[in-house]
Amino acid sequence: MTISTKSSVLLLNDNSLLKGDLFINGQWLPSRSDAYIEVVNPANGEIVNKVANAGKLETIEAIDAAHNAFASWKAYTAKERSFFLKKWFELVVENTEDLAQIMTAEQGKPLAESRAEILYAASFIEWFAEEAKRVYGDIVPTNSNDRRLLTVKQPVGVVAAITPWNFPSAMLTRKVGPALASGCTVVLKPAKETPLSAMALVELSKRAGIPSGVINLVVGLSSREIGDELTANPKVKKLTFTGSTPVGKQLIKQCADTVKKVSMELGGNAPVIVFDDANLEEAVEGVIQSKYRNAGQTCICINRVLVQENVYEKFVELFTHKVSQIAVGEGTKPDVTMGPMINEKSVQDVELMVQDALQKGALLKTGGNRMDLSSCFYQPTVLADVTSDMRVIKEEIFGPVAPVMKFSDEKEAIKLANDTEFGLASYVYSSDMGRIWRVSEAIEYGMVGVNEVAITSEVIPFGGVKESGSGREGSKYGMDDYLEIKYICLGGI
Ligand code: NAP
Repeated sequence: MTISTKSSVLLLNDNSLLKGDLFINGQWLPSRSDAYIEVVNPANGEIVNKVANAGKLETIEAIDAAHNAFASWKAYTAKERSFFLKKWFELVVENTEDLAQIMTAEQGKPLAESRAEILYAASFIEWFAEEAKRVYGDIVPTNSNDRRLLTVKQPVGVVAAITPWNFPSAMLTRKVGPALASGCTVVLKPAKETPLSAMALVELSKRAGIPSGVINLVVGLSSREIGDELTANPKVKKLTFTGSTPVGKQLIKQCADTVKKVSMELGGNAPVIVFDDANLEEAVEGVIQSKYRNAGQTCICINRVLVQENVYEKFVELFTHKVSQIAVGEGTKPDVTMGPMINEKSVQDVELMVQDALQKGALLKTGGNRMDLSSCFYQPTVLADVTSDMRVIKEEIFGPVAPVMKFSDEKEAIKLANDTEFGLASYVYSSDMGRIWRVSEAIEYGMVGVNEVAITSEVIPFGGVKESGSGREGSKYGMDDYLEIKYICLGGI
């Protein structure tokens, strides 16, 4: 079934960026079945567009296209691949406004956040266009005078990239950028809640002249059916996944049979530790910026607020006052700083977590209810006096709820921060340099923000430890997962 590219609810400068078909071997193609996905605006329930539903057959076609394109794509010089990526980067930047409108319509985040994400997404394409030219091998000091030893780096092959709905553009380019720069070809599987952002980016890659088959995109009502094929098919050499830890664990198991390389960007349970020597106003601002961005649906957003006991009351008072002033509404409205959650199920999950905390003795300082805007809105919420047995502390909340708890000293703060299976991002507020070093080294996280929550960009290695994942995205390390090291021994010298 071919899908119309016209939406009655979204008017763009360039309406041809709104797609609904699958992208296989350089063509927008209908699905084999009549089933389709309705992409719904969480802020008002309107259908933004219908999208073709892919299953096993379409996924095999996409993998075959990527497999066939691999030989010619890897044969381009690094400079040529870099050129294609730069062109794509320029088109993404030029179309920022349309891409942001599409993102806010399907994901809900305020337009200012969508615009920022598009530029963040573009930055990965630009960065890896540059890194493509810096993939060096080694000359290894020989262990025998009649031999010379060297290494070269080569692309791993066809990459399957599965991405989530919370950052529908940046999570995609953070994978496709290094994959293409390395000489790999890709099959993308965006989340069914937000396929339109991914499709618009893919359309721009086509306009940038990236050859047919290098990028392919499938999406479907059954992500399991697509995922089963992506992980079982021997033509796929690597899986890169961003999403929840349970799904990531399942996909790692599925990749074992064909021994694929895997990299995993999974869930988090980020603590912020606010010491009594911190600038409290700055700490409050930072926690709000991190916690309520994207309505709390960010893998690195603060999940647990740990505050030293002698500044606890003052922090809770200042924090509650500021949180109660957050402007919630449709992301397209000016002045709105927090939009809806992605769907009603997510709101229900958050409601249950808040109920659990209140039953176990937490204090509701502000929020704690749904809002009358659509079924996807939940109030920015602060819970005080939370304890370690509550779900809001043990689990990733993924919603606009901040649980605040007290600690007495540095040792206890470190123990509480590490008391989780997750290890993605963490934050520390303090003015004591010795303490900052000690705590940063002692907490078990892939990333630590000190007196700062805006820690991400294309230049830094993003990733987690423990059950938050493996591998790093962005930075000079971001290419490593897409390259194999080959050792060559030259004898008879
Ligand atoms: P999710 O349910 O794990 O989904 C992520 C992606 O996996 C989506 O494309 C989803 O497709 C797909 N998927 C689900 N089950 C699958 C299966 N059996 N086989 C193949 N694909 C499958 O996670 P989410 O709720 O979308 O995203 C939130 C999670 O992502 C949070 O835990 C968050 O912390 C994490 N996250 C981590 C990072 C990071 O960099 N570490 C960044 C962003 C988000 P459908 O949606 O179409 O089913």
